[in-house]
Amino acid sequence: MFKAFYISFLLILVLFLGSCGKKGLTLKIGDQDVLALGNVDSCNFVQSASGLRVSWKSSTPVKFIIGSSVPTKYDATIVKAATVWNNYMNRGLISVHRDNTLTNSPGDDRYNLIYWVTDWPDEQAMEQARTGIRWDVSKLRDADIKINADNFEFYADGETNTTGKVSLLSLMIHEMGHGIGLKHINDIVSVMFTHLATGTERSSPAKVDTDSLGCEY
Ligand SMILES: [Zn+2]
Repeated sequence: MFKAFYISFLLILVLFLGSCGKKGLTLKIGDQDVLALGNVDSCNFVQSASGLRVSWKSSTPVKFIIGSSVPTKYDATIVKAATVWNNYMNRGLISVHRDNTLTNSPGDDRYNLIYWVTDWPDEQAMEQARTGIRWDVSKLRDADIKINADNFEFYADGETNTTGKVSLLSLMIHEMGHGIGLKHINDIVSVMFTHLATGTERSSPAKVDTDSLGCEY
């Protein structure tokens, strides 16, 4: 069987107002130092069990697909999130397109799908989104982004009514960062910071973000 030849990994990264978690293990600020242990500088990337940075390597642009569940009024905002990363990295790192024909559930299907979820589990109600990444050895092969539209409202790029809502642009920049391998960065200037308050814009990658990505891309 194919799987017999690979050790495959799944990691769930979430963004929310409280603490931060990954599947099967609570991950708090500070614990990331443990994840950073290894023989290669992590550059704020998720690392394999042997300390290698987990990324798409040369398989770029990384293609994200807006699934049919996502309201079309948010397409431009999601595309812009990719454009922000591409502009800051000065290369075509991420591409985004809509495909309403894909009705897949989040899973290991090699489609990097963005989902609008309206029936979020109650016990995870504080999570704004969650990105699941899967890799073999240290190369990513699947990344899915789920957006919690059950417990949160979002505002599109350019929308002026932001009170009590989450910046979808900021959120998507953050989740796409996870989707290409970055973990949380415990620095408020980073778009990969663990928490995003409602009505707050964090849509300009900082030097720590672009320096980190530059280690792999
Ligand atoms: Zn996150």
